[in-house]
Parts: sequence; C-alpha cells; structure tokens
Amino acid sequence: MTTVQAESATTGEPTTRETFESLDPATDEVVGTYPVHTAADVEEAVAEAREAASWWAGLGFAGRTERLQRWKGVLTRRSAQLAELVHAETGKPHGDAMLEIVLAIDHTAWAAKHARKVLGSRRRSAGLLMANQAATVEYQPLGVVGVIGPWNYPVFTPMGSIAYALAAGNAVVFKPSEYTPGVGKWLADAFAEVVPEHPVFRVVTGFGKTGAALCRSGVDKLAFTGSPGTGKKIMAACAETLTPVLIEAGGKDALLVDADADVAAAADAAVWGGMSNAGQTCVGVERVYVHEKVYDDFVAKVVEVTKDVRAGSDAEAKIGPITMPGQLKIIKRHIADALSRGGKALVGGEDAVGERYVQPTVLVDVPEDSSAVREETFGPTLTIAKVRDMDEAVEKANDSRYGLASTVFSKARGVELARRLRSGMTAVNGVISFAGIPSLPFGGIGDSGFGRIHGPEGLREFARSKAIARQRFRPPLSLTTFSRTAKTDATVAKLITLLHGKRR
Ligand code: NAD
Repeated sequence: MTTVQAESATTGEPTTRETFESLDPATDEVVGTYPVHTAADVEEAVAEAREAASWWAGLGFAGRTERLQRWKGVLTRRSAQLAELVHAETGKPHGDAMLEIVLAIDHTAWAAKHARKVLGSRRRSAGLLMANQAATVEYQPLGVVGVIGPWNYPVFTPMGSIAYALAAGNAVVFKPSEYTPGVGKWLADAFAEVVPEHPVFRVVTGFGKTGAALCRSGVDKLAFTGSPGTGKKIMAACAETLTPVLIEAGGKDALLVDADADVAAAADAAVWGGMSNAGQTCVGVERVYVHEKVYDDFVAKVVEVTKDVRAGSDAEAKIGPITMPGQLKIIKRHIADALSRGGKALVGGEDAVGERYVQPTVLVDVPEDSSAVREETFGPTLTIAKVRDMDEAVEKANDSRYGLASTVFSKARGVELARRLRSGMTAVNGVISFAGIPSLPFGGIGDSGFGRIHGPEGLREFARSKAIARQRFRPPLSLTTFSRTAKTDATVAKLITLLHGKRR
C-alpha cells in the first residue's frame, strides 16, 4: 500500500489517500494503481447510489432493458480489450478470459430480456373464500445492492450478481477483489457510458476492510462471492444491521464416472474441469470417483490428456500462473499430505508447485480424509478414486462440507445420479455446462453458501415480493368487520366443511 496526495472529492482540499497496485501475476509488473476506499468513501458511494436507484427503478423494465442491452453491446465490441485486462490481472490465457466474458455477456442479455416476465406484476388465484378479490404479486427492487467479488473469474462471477441486480431495478456498489480492481472499474466505466445520468453502478476498491465497510454501509442486500471463511465474516458484519446476504463460496466438486460412461469424454471433462484456469475455479472438478470396471481405462486417458496441459505464460501454455501467491502453499500442502499418506502422483507431484506456476498433478490412492480430498485445493490437481458401484460414488461425493456443483458421466443413469448428489448444480455428460445456461440458477449448499444467482431465481434474489389484494366487489359474506353476524360465521363454517372437511 502507498500513501499519495490527492484532493478531497467534496471539499477540494488536499488530503492523503492510500493506494494499492494490481500486479501481473506472471511478471509482477504493475497493471494499475487504485485507491483504498475508506468507510467514509463507501458510505458516500452508497448514498449516491441510493439516489441513483430511484431514478433507475423509475425507468421501468423497458428503459432498463434498453440500457442493459446497450451495455451488453459495449462489452461485446470491446471484449478483446477487457480480456487483455483480465489476462494481465489474473494471468489466465486470453482465450479463457474471452470465455468468461462471453458467458457474462450472455447472462446480461438474458437478465435484461427476462426481467419483466419474471418480476413483473402477475395475477394469482384469490381462492374461493376470497373470490371477491383480485390478487397480484410483483417483485420490486431492493434499492442498493452491495457486491463483493473474487479474482478468479473477475467478470463472469460478479456479473452474475451485478447484471441480475441491475435488471431487477437496483443500483449496485461493487467491491472487486484487490487482485482485479482494474476489471471491476472497467465494467463500471463501460456501464457509465450507456447510463451517464446517475451513478447506478459504482465501484469501490480496496482490501477486506473496504468490503467490510460495504457490509455495514446500509446496502439493502450484500451479494458475496469468495471463500467460505470470508463469507462467515461477511454474514457476521451484515448481521449487525440485519442486511440480507447471498453467499457464493467455494467447493470441492466431484465428478462421477459410471461403468457405461463415454470414458474418453469423461477423462477430457475431468482434465478440463480440474485444470482450466489453473484449477482456480469455484465449480472446478477436484475429486473423481470412477466405477471399478472403467477405472484403469479412465486413469490412463486422464494421464494422456494431462500430458498436453502445461502451465506458463507463453502462447502455447494452456494454463497460467496461480493468481494469488499465498495459494501455492496450500496446493503444495495438499499434494504433500496426499503423498505422505500413501497417495501416488501419476502426473506432477510436489515438484509441480513452482514459484508462480503449478504444473498439472494427478493423484490416485489418496485417503478420503486427506486435505487433498476434503479441502478446496484451487490448483490444477485431481484426485481419482476407484469405487465398487455408483452408490459408493454418490456417498463419497456427498461426504463433504461443501456442496457447490458436481458432474456425472453415465449413459443410462445420469439424471438419476445427478438428483442424488448434494450440490446446487450438476452437469451430466458435460462439464460446468450449467454455468453457461442463463436460465438455470447457480449457487451452493453447506459451506458453498446459499442463495442463487442466474435465471429467474437470480433475478428474484435481488427483489422483494409485493403482494396486492384489490377488492373487486363487496363480498356476500364479509369476514373482516365487527358487524359480522353469527349467521355469517355459521355459513362460513358450513362452507369450509364443504370445501375441506371431506373424509378421504
Ligand atoms: P476471498 O474470500 O479471499 O475474497 C473475496 C472478496 O472478499 C475480495 O473482494 C476481498 O477483498 C473481500 N474480503 C476479504 N475479507 C473481507 C471482509 N472481512 N469483509 C468483507 N469483504 C472481505 O476469496 P478469493 O480468494 O478472492 O476467491 C476465491 C474463492 O472464491 C474460492 O473459495 C472460490 O471457490 C470462491 N468462488 C466462488 C464462486 C461461486 O460462485 N460459488 C465463484 C468464484 C469463486
């Protein structure tokens, strides 16, 4: 952190302002310098966003959709520039950066297009007893939504909250990860081009302290994506003001391979699901359970596919560096623990963990209670275990405090097994496919968090239901009056017996 002289935004007086740098994890070159926003800055941003929120809500679905579609157009036309920034701040290959941007654009388009249908006013049946009423429900914006994001998918992940919250009519104050502040600012600047009138989407930058200030700033909801440990702190801070929270935390996702599976496709999916983005994917594959009948074949294919995957910063490298230097120690500890307890590395091993890069590592015979199986590794590693049958596979996959996503490869029983897996999402005969389907909700259970982004559920997450009962005509039996007679009560008693009193 550095302290620099700046001017106060309100008084114009000279003031000191702390700044921090985002670095290219491949080279440690400075990508950008950003302010460390204080609690006062955050409060100011939220106050401004609150004013902007009423204006934005007043635009209605049509007005907001039009702006969001224009924003989507800007993101699409400048995606190469944004991908370059994602590449610089996270180290991930340009193609992978493009992939997350493409998905985020598609989600933004979906949220903009479907907001009215999902959230607009609709009639509900009033029921026989209240037949004189017209019943409607609509979903109104919350006001200002605070979003705190991680660095691993700095566009796709926070946009799952930002785009849906905006489409639902809220203003947003976003605190991007300290590793990817430039990406957060880029998104907000692009939005301000299509919505120049008011600061509907603001960015505040800084570390955990700035995030904590956002939790306490009086936002109407806090959407957090990051590690479970931070999620708990966020919930505790939000509890002080009864601010509702959405928690998208980590995972230890399992992939199951059944005896009748397309083994080559499953191996390809396991390697990509586990190692793309250098394994730094919340819904990445970390554990694999394989039916004994296809185990040897599967393992051989995984080893073969993995040999083509190399970490580096050159154009041929398929995965980049570990973005957060502190993660290297965790990855090394997991591999060392697995090996010291009888596990074998068929590819990679402890030496695969370098100073910036981790080369792919495939572990077998790892005890189920080792950290490589139980904790989120967040590196390009896979553990593969042999199981007798798919019941054992389901049992082992479910034996985790996490429950984010999962994958099943099976020709006959894919959906049946998917239903039995304790996770928020499951891909069948594909990998991470649910994330690219905007109409599907995304989120976890257990230590992976709660609440949903994406899809209709993701829009409703950022809205409050408003019920309206409008009397259409005076009822023959008026129940809500002190002038109600004994006769009315007797008629109601008869009616309810007729309606619900039948013996079955
Ligand atoms: P992190 O928890 O370290 O940080 C996330 C964000 O929280 C950052 O912006 C950080 O500055 C902020 N923060 C830290 N301390 C805070 C505090 N006390 N109060 C408020 N904010 C605070 O997570 P990370 O390392 O950036 O991200 C990696 C984690 O995110 C992994 O566990 C990964 O699985 C998870 N993740 C989950 C999803 C999902 O959708 N479920 C998506 C992507 C990443």
